[in-house]
Amino acid sequence: MEAITGTRRSRGYHSLEIAGDAETKGGRRAWMRWAAPAACVLCVPLLLLLVGDHWRPSFDWFQGATHPKGSTSVSSSVVREASKDKLLGGLLSAEFEDCSCFSRYRSAAYRKASPHLPSPYLVERLRRYEALHRKCGPNTELYKKSIERLKSKQSSAAMECNYIVWIPHYGLGNRVVSLVSSFLYAILNDRVLLVHVPHELTDLFCEPFPGTSWVLPSDFPVHNFQNFDKDTPQSFGNMLRDKVISIDMRSSANATLPAYVYLHLPWYYNEWDKLFFCQDAQQMLRKVPWLLLKSDHYFVPSLFLVEEYDDELRRLFPERTTVFHHLVRYLFHPSNTVWGYVTRYYHAYLAKADKRVGIQIRNLKNEPVPFETLLGQIVNCSSKEGILPSIDLRHTARPAEDDAKVTAVFTTSLDSGYSDRIRDMYYEHATTTGEIVGVYQASHEGKQQTEHQNHNVKALSEITLLSFSDVLITTACSTFGYVAQGLGGLEPLILTKPWKSKLPCRWAESPEPCFLIPPPSDVCRDHGGINKKMAQHVRQCEDENGGVKLFD
Ligand code: GDP
Repeated sequence: MEAITGTRRSRGYHSLEIAGDAETKGGRRAWMRWAAPAACVLCVPLLLLLVGDHWRPSFDWFQGATHPKGSTSVSSSVVREASKDKLLGGLLSAEFEDCSCFSRYRSAAYRKASPHLPSPYLVERLRRYEALHRKCGPNTELYKKSIERLKSKQSSAAMECNYIVWIPHYGLGNRVVSLVSSFLYAILNDRVLLVHVPHELTDLFCEPFPGTSWVLPSDFPVHNFQNFDKDTPQSFGNMLRDKVISIDMRSSANATLPAYVYLHLPWYYNEWDKLFFCQDAQQMLRKVPWLLLKSDHYFVPSLFLVEEYDDELRRLFPERTTVFHHLVRYLFHPSNTVWGYVTRYYHAYLAKADKRVGIQIRNLKNEPVPFETLLGQIVNCSSKEGILPSIDLRHTARPAEDDAKVTAVFTTSLDSGYSDRIRDMYYEHATTTGEIVGVYQASHEGKQQTEHQNHNVKALSEITLLSFSDVLITTACSTFGYVAQGLGGLEPLILTKPWKSKLPCRWAESPEPCFLIPPPSDVCRDHGGINKKMAQHVRQCEDENGGVKLFD
């Protein structure tokens, strides 16, 4: 989350004993292009075509044995057994044409088989949601009726079709986690989810719902909604503060409600906005036909604390820690353009390896970790946890055996420095195990450029490639990494922030993301309270003390 500012300094970390450089380099509308039968006829033939002596890592951060997650034995097949279950246990609808979106039914073949099946109830609810979306989606009579109501500014009783409009905010990872959260909110409230797709998000993702579109039509009548923010008078928080609306049941029972409400939920939301997560607010908002939502966070854990969602959430997700894994794989399928990047890269560099390790490196400019410290964390943690072999400093002339096992390390970072150093290390030295390690990085964009479509294509390609890993290492508090771990169903080894943790890394307990800036635990004290039984399952994250995530 690049946007959070802070001036923290690293402390208490040992520097890695590496001589040499200190701080290196600093750093069309077809995303929704779905099934045109003619294109399918055309695409069939297309498819057919189709690591110096100076390196002295110190391991003094660690005690204890290699973690079982690091040393997982892996399949060497290029396209895995999981490919048999292309519908992901019923999660995906079978109604799409394959070539409208190659990735939809093919991604599973590139990933480790997920041990988590969606519950039959989740599968049923997704099919019901798809039917609702077809009934109320853009260009339907019911959609037009709802738009007329919105234009006339009439409020009162909810309509047959009610909507939630998602407004993008910050980087791609932030967008994906907040969109997944908005989708769960839509399911819980029988609302139709529509997404605002600015230019930079075009041709990134396929349509997730068959026979309809989730793209908000360009003639949506609310003026300038893309720029709604904390001072927008129509925000839920501001309207509560200004007594335009109330979540007090007695005073709101017969009150006139606006035709739409803007939900302001980015990290800089205020105490009024945070009341959104209270039961009383949820009941009031149910009467508002249009909700416009902006967030940069995975706010799902706080929905679990709303008492009235308890039964439904338990039935949907008997395994709480699979919410993100199921929903992100359901919703997000890279466009054919992105899939091209992904598969070209994968087959060129990663496919033939015996083991694939993903390393996601995010060093924020506003709270940087010194280059050598972060590099030391990566090298020491991956070695100590049995993810990557140590280098052999004694037998410098040891040749590689012909049948040596090959590990492909796929790194992602805005900079090339980390990847270069790790690659040089394995080029210049044999490993203690005799394994051969290749290190690859697809891009080094230098800085975040969310406003550029092609930059986002690369970001999504790299997130997708990370999700194909057998073992994943991520950077604490990065939504970029959260999306990769969710897609892959992976429990990553998290590189912690030096000023937040005594340990340089720790394993995540699940692929669930952290809600990094949740409302305070007593936020609903006067507004319906929270589900106390569920509170024991919504606990502190591994990577952020103030954040909360779902635990089983
Ligand atoms: P977060 O800020 O770490 O939570 O992740 P976000 O995805 O929300 O925002 C970071 C953005 O910076 C990404 O979406 C990319 O645009 C860019 N970015 C960060 N790291 C990388 C990387 O390793 N590769 C590429 N291609 N882009 C990156």
